[in-house]
Amino acid sequence: MVSQAVAHDEEILTDVCIIGAGPAGITIALEIANRGVRVCLLEAGGRDVERRFQRQSRGESDGYPIYRLDGSRLRAFGGTVRHPRIWDLGWAARPLDPIDFEPREDLPEFGWPVDREDLDPYYQRAEDVCRIHPFDVATAIWSKQASADALSLENGELESTIFQFATTAFHDAWDVLSTFSNVRVLLETRAAEIKVDFTGRRVDSIVAVRGSRERVVIRPRLVILAAGGIENARLLLAANDGRGLGNEHDLVGRYFAERLSFHAGHVVLSNKTSLDHLDRFHRPEGAEIAGALRVTEKVQQERHLRNVVFFLVPRPVAATSNAVRSLTTLRKAIARRPFISDVGWHMRNVLAGARDFADFAMSRADSPQILALRAQGEQAPNRESRVTLGSRRDDLGMPVARVTWRMTQEDYRSIEASARVLDTVLRSRGFGYIEWTAHLGSTTLIEANNHHLGTTRMHADPTQGVVDPDCRVHSVENLFVAGSSVFPTYGASNPTLTIVALALRLADKVPHVLQKSLSVRRVMLAKPKKLGPQLS
Ligand SMILES: Cc1cc2nc3c(=O)[nH]c(=O)nc-3n(C[C@H](O)[C@H](O)[C@H](O)COP(=O)(O)OP(=O)(O)OC[C@H]3O[C@@H](n4cnc5c(N)ncnc54)[C@H](O)[C@@H]3O)c2cc1C
Repeated sequence: MVSQAVAHDEEILTDVCIIGAGPAGITIALEIANRGVRVCLLEAGGRDVERRFQRQSRGESDGYPIYRLDGSRLRAFGGTVRHPRIWDLGWAARPLDPIDFEPREDLPEFGWPVDREDLDPYYQRAEDVCRIHPFDVATAIWSKQASADALSLENGELESTIFQFATTAFHDAWDVLSTFSNVRVLLETRAAEIKVDFTGRRVDSIVAVRGSRERVVIRPRLVILAAGGIENARLLLAANDGRGLGNEHDLVGRYFAERLSFHAGHVVLSNKTSLDHLDRFHRPEGAEIAGALRVTEKVQQERHLRNVVFFLVPRPVAATSNAVRSLTTLRKAIARRPFISDVGWHMRNVLAGARDFADFAMSRADSPQILALRAQGEQAPNRESRVTLGSRRDDLGMPVARVTWRMTQEDYRSIEASARVLDTVLRSRGFGYIEWTAHLGSTTLIEANNHHLGTTRMHADPTQGVVDPDCRVHSVENLFVAGSSVFPTYGASNPTLTIVALALRLADKVPHVLQKSLSVRRVMLAKPKKLGPQLS
């Protein structure tokens, strides 16, 4: 049953309360509703995307400039994949690589407590949910289209890989959810408080607010946070009357990471080759599949490199001029908070670049002259990069999120070192070389990709992670987390396919957890524990 209305001060008893109706929350709701579980799904936004709800995502930030929080998350049934930028182009889907799950010799904080094989069956189901090809099929399609020269770049140090582009609209689930009598969806209803019982180890209720006044209390047996990588941390930090939940080891909000994404330079082609020969390591307009290049896992391990993929994007020469790049940067900087610091340098480039703009305007999109090198890579987990509660409060009196995004020189150098592998292979094949134009130190060099990762990291050891390998908050027996906040390391792939795979995995566990908690309760009721003398 999909309902917008709640009675004032209504109390809802349910098996599972899911907070957030994005890809994570909707996937879980559909799966467990199918198995007869009673679900209450809370969504802060409405059925359609509306500006008035975006205000609720406003926050603060310091550290390396990051996109405004209210611009990088969407509050609506269906979640952030309804963002206009994704809506037009589709969202890039790719599983994490086996190496992303493994520990690294030089970085003890790398690695997951599950490996890629554990996730493989869920990735296969996620491909169905996201309506994309199985990855081996998509790889075969792409390989047929790639030129022999392109494939000859694979040499044991470098390999090709692919991304698919999904247009799955999770909000289509509305019609299906409406058919279930065991599902209640509350729109425009924000979870505002998570309250625990007297033991402090069980969530007792969720206090939610519709609009800014109507209060509704949900009493679930199990709670799943699926509010996105920043809001999951914020809700935990503000829970339990401001004392926090799951934060005994000061880990909630820490290890915040973004996917590093930047224009690193371009390929200077030799006269032996042409653009066409290296075509396909990018996304041709409207294509469902894009190729990319990456350093093999063996070389990543040997040289202590983080994971990164490179796209070779055909562009006109003028697109690489300082003037055109600075103009693009300034345009993007408006969406960042805090504002970039090297505005003066960019302004001077723009003012000096009349000729470059003219060339750029005259260049034809269908006759590119160079291959721009675009990098998309991971950062190492960093405790100091974090989400905390900010100084301002929202209209419900809850502190806003404050993001302190940190990036290290090593994160940047690792990407540069991987590009050198590509450069060496290009030279050895006689195709040309890479001209690296990115300069470290500019606060505008590296862009975030709107992937909010790591803030409730998964670890088997409660002193190292917020959730256990089942995504359960270590110290709260009936509280689980879904979404990219549980990623302990991040890889080079966009996160949503993995979010859906993990959501399916969590959904599989829910009926067992509910069953187990019922049996424990029955035992406790059947055999009341004798109280010994309180005073001797
Ligand atoms: C411009 C842009 C481009 C992107 N491109 C890609 C891409 O190509 N590929 C990719 O994999 N990913 C991409 N992403 C990231 C992708 O959108 C997220 O990974 C994905 O949406 C996360 O799913 P989620 O369900 O965890 O969170 P979300 O989709 O953010 O959904 C969370 C939901 O929770 C709700 N919520 C929040 N707080 C509360 C509360 N207190 N009470 C009730 N409800 C609440 C929100 O309203 C929202 O609907 C992109 C993001 C942006 C902004």
